Amino acid sequence: MPTVTTKKPTKKAAQKKPAPKSATAKKPAARAHAPARTERISTNPATGEDLGSYPVFTPDEVRAAIARARAAQPRWAAFPLAKRIEFMKRVKRDILNHMGDLAELISKESGKPRVEAHNAEIILICDLIDYFSKEAPKLLADEKLPMPQVAFKTKSTKLFYAPLGVIGIISPWNWPFAIPMSEIIMALICGNTVVLKPAEPTSLCGLRIGELFDRAGVPEGVVEVVSGSGSTTGQALVEGDVDKVVFTGSVEVGRHIMETAAKRLCPAVLELGGKDPMIICEDAYLNAAAEAAVWGAFFNQGQVCASVERVYVHETVYDEFVDLVVEKAGKLRVGNPMDPDVDLGSMINHAQVKTVHAQVQRALKAGARVLTGGEPVEPVKGGAFYSPTVMVDVRQDMEIMQEETFGPVLPIMKFTTDEEAVALANDSRFGLSASVFSKNLKRAELIARQIRTGAVSINDCCYTYGLPQAPWGGEKESGVGRTHSRFGLYEFVSIRSLGTEMLGQVKRPYWYPYSQGTYEMLQKATSLLYSDSPLEGVLRILGSGKNGG
Ligand code: NAD
Repeated sequence: MPTVTTKKPTKKAAQKKPAPKSATAKKPAARAHAPARTERISTNPATGEDLGSYPVFTPDEVRAAIARARAAQPRWAAFPLAKRIEFMKRVKRDILNHMGDLAELISKESGKPRVEAHNAEIILICDLIDYFSKEAPKLLADEKLPMPQVAFKTKSTKLFYAPLGVIGIISPWNWPFAIPMSEIIMALICGNTVVLKPAEPTSLCGLRIGELFDRAGVPEGVVEVVSGSGSTTGQALVEGDVDKVVFTGSVEVGRHIMETAAKRLCPAVLELGGKDPMIICEDAYLNAAAEAAVWGAFFNQGQVCASVERVYVHETVYDEFVDLVVEKAGKLRVGNPMDPDVDLGSMINHAQVKTVHAQVQRALKAGARVLTGGEPVEPVKGGAFYSPTVMVDVRQDMEIMQEETFGPVLPIMKFTTDEEAVALANDSRFGLSASVFSKNLKRAELIARQIRTGAVSINDCCYTYGLPQAPWGGEKESGVGRTHSRFGLYEFVSIRSLGTEMLGQVKRPYWYPYSQGTYEMLQKATSLLYSDSPLEGVLRILGSGKNGG
C-alpha cells in the first residue's frame, strides 16, 4: 500500500503568515472594479482551511469587464512590441521575487505538492516568458511574399499580424497558474487584452494573476479577472463581446462553449480532456519505464489532461513491469501537499474523490483487480485524498480504459504485436498525447508516428506542455486549435495580407472593359505560362481551337 504520511508541514511552512482571509477584504481584488454582489470562500482541499474569499461576478459585471478590456485594447496594441515584452519581463521578475508565496498559494488551493507547483507552474511560466520575449519579434514580424505571377509583377505583398481584440480565457483548476498565464502572455504579446475566468476551486490563484499584471504596471483594462461560477460568470464571458474564446477544460463544457460561440461565429480554441496511452515494448529500459509510468500517472494526483491513463505492455515483460510499478507505487507518500516529503497531495475536492472511486469500483465489478491503492485515504483529517492505484485484468472495452479518470489510477494491459499496440492506443475518442518506450528509437518512432495524438514522446512522458516551443493541443475529442509554439501564438492574431501596386497611375489589364480580344489574350497567356514547357505552350496556341487548347 502507498504510504499515507501524516507528518505536519515543515516548521518554515508553519511559521508563514496565514493567507489573508479575504482576497477582497484586504485590497480590492485585482481588476474587480465594480462591486461584486456575492463572495465565496476558497478552501484548502487537503485541510479544509479557509483561504479567503473571492467575488462572484454577475453577467452585468462580466460585460463591464469586457467593455473595459475593449476600451483598453487599442492603446495596448499601440505600444511597440518591445514595450509589451518589457511588461511581460516585469511580470516574470515579480514571479521570481514571490515564487515561494506563489507556490504556496497554488499548492494550498489546488492540493498539489509544492514541488509540483514550483516545477510545473512557476518554472514553466518563467521559461515561456523568456521564450516568447525572444521569439515573438521574429514570429510577429511582417513577411514579404514572393510575387511570381506575371500579371502581378508590379505589386508587392506582405503579410502582417494584427491583434484580434479582446480574448476571453476560461481555465481549469488543475494548472491554475500555468494554463491561464501562458494564454494571457501570448495574447498580450500579440496586442490583445484579456478577460480571464478562472475555475471556481482555484479562484484566488486567478485573482493573484490579475495582481501580477497590476503590479507590473500593465494599464487598466488590459487584464481583467472575473471570478465566479462556470454556468453564470463563464457563460456570460462566452456570450459576451469577445473576439475569441480560449477554453481549457472538459469535453462536455468545451462542446457547449463551442456551440455558444458558434452562434456569434466567434472562434474558439478548445484544450480538452485525454486518455493518454503509454506503450512499453519488450526492449524498453524497464525500470525507467516503470518510474515514468508511476510519475506520469500519479503526479498532480493524476488530475492532468496528459497524465498516463492506460499502459500497454508487451506480454513478455508484462509481469516484470507490473511488479516494478506496484513496488514503486507502494512507496509513494500521500499527505499534506505543503509537506516537502510527500509525493501526492490532495485531490481538488471530495466530489472528485467520489468520481474516481466510483470509476474504480465499476472497473472491479467488470472484472479488474486492484494491486495497490483503490480507496480514499485520510492522511489529514477531512482532506480529499485518494491512494495511488494500480489495476490489472482490465479490458479495452472497460470504462477505465475508455473514459478519462482524472485521478491517480493506472490500469495496465498486455499486447503482443506493435500493430496491436498502435490499434489499442488509437482505440479512443481522445487524442491528446501518448508515449512509447523502447531502446530501439527507430521502432519507437515508427510506433509513435502512427498514434493519433497532438503530442507523442519516446522514453519519457507528460513533459510536452512544458515546452513553449512545441505545439500543444489535441486531436479527436481532445480539442481544437493549438497553444504554445508559433502555432499557439498565431491563434491570437488575425493573419492579414497587405498588397501595394507600384504603378498606381497605370490601368490594370484585367479591369473593364472586357472584350473578345482580352479573352483570346488571356487564353494564349494561360497556354504559355502554365504548360509544362514553353514549346508545349506555343504548340498549344498554334493548335488551339475554340477551347484554347
Ligand atoms: P470544466 O470543464 O468543468 O471547467 C473548466 C472551466 O470552464 C472552469 O473555469 C469552469 O468554471 C468553466 N465553465 C463551466 N461551465 C461553463 C459554461 N457553461 N460557460 C463557460 N464556462 C464554463 O473542467 P475542470 O474540471 O476545471 O478541468 C478538468 C478538465 O480539463 C479535464 O477534462 C482535463 O483533461 C481538462 N484539461 C485539459 C487540458 C489541455 O491542455 N488539453 C489542460 C488541463 C485540463
